[in-house]
Amino acid sequence: MILLDGKKTSADIKEEIAAEVTKIIKQNKRPPHLAAVLVGEDGASMTYVKNKVRACEKVGFESTLIRLKDSTTEEELLQQVHALNADDSIDGFIVQLPLPSQINEEKILLAVDPKKDVDGFHPTNFGRMALEMDSFISATPFGIMQLIERYEIETSGKNVLVVGRSNIVGRPMSILLSQKKPFANATVTLAHSRTKNLKELSLQSDIIVVALGIPNFLKADMVSEGTVVIDVGITRVDDPSSAKGYKLVGDVDYDEVAPKSSHITPVPGGVGPMTIAMLLQNTLLAYQRYQLS
Ligand code: NDP
Repeated sequence: MILLDGKKTSADIKEEIAAEVTKIIKQNKRPPHLAAVLVGEDGASMTYVKNKVRACEKVGFESTLIRLKDSTTEEELLQQVHALNADDSIDGFIVQLPLPSQINEEKILLAVDPKKDVDGFHPTNFGRMALEMDSFISATPFGIMQLIERYEIETSGKNVLVVGRSNIVGRPMSILLSQKKPFANATVTLAHSRTKNLKELSLQSDIIVVALGIPNFLKADMVSEGTVVIDVGITRVDDPSSAKGYKLVGDVDYDEVAPKSSHITPVPGGVGPMTIAMLLQNTLLAYQRYQLS
């Protein structure tokens, strides 16, 4: 069994990005700049955003964290988004989800300039991704594709099962893996809560990507020997023995499934760290595409 080490791979990618930033600075240009907007006080969101800002600093990017109160109106947030769209010193920005209930997420997402949409959530970027045009691929699917490529996992002609059809993980994964290009070319099945014969499908699969948010969902009896298993799930589960009071659990029953798999991502340390690295990669891309050109 080979561990798909997202911690190490993301560190490699961040080193490559930092080297690019050093080159940029040597040319007396400003570094790439990522902004993050956080509305409210949600604990998990605060942790995610803080990690993103810290990652920016480590690779030499500039970063700006904009914190807005929980009672922020949709209009106020839209104004903030417009200001960031217009700010030439910012190459890319993210609006951390979920947003408070008084704000329509779709409206906010549509207001982001696709050229600065480093999360890749805008329909322009999603559409361009689907059509194999230059785009920002959302960070989690982009990170999984990088793991597949850097570990040279054969995907061509393989049966892939993606479990979960969200717009940010499952659906884009199913599109990317079915595209006509290297490290894709797979025969993809996209499963969801209405899928009837999931175990039958998973047993026939060479590669399984699991993105549901149900801890330990994928069990050993659902996986054939030699399967590549990619676990996207992250659920906080109470754990009084840990200092934080919780632990992160994936969608795969790792202890059971790992011995049967040819490659597997751990949780934590698999897909999670890749997501942050690819957000940085997208910010660098935004800078190179629109700042340097
Ligand atoms: P969503 O909640 O948006 O989607 C979950 C999907 O799972 C839905 O398509 C749902 O089906 C499907 N599903 C639910 N129950 C079943 C079931 N019993 N059998 C088959 N399919 C089922 O999730 P996300 O894609 O946003 O996130 C999934 C997980 O990945 C979460 O744990 C999240 O925290 C994690 N995540 C991790 C990231 C990372 O950086 N590592 C980034 C993003 C997410 P239906 O459509 O029919 O409702």
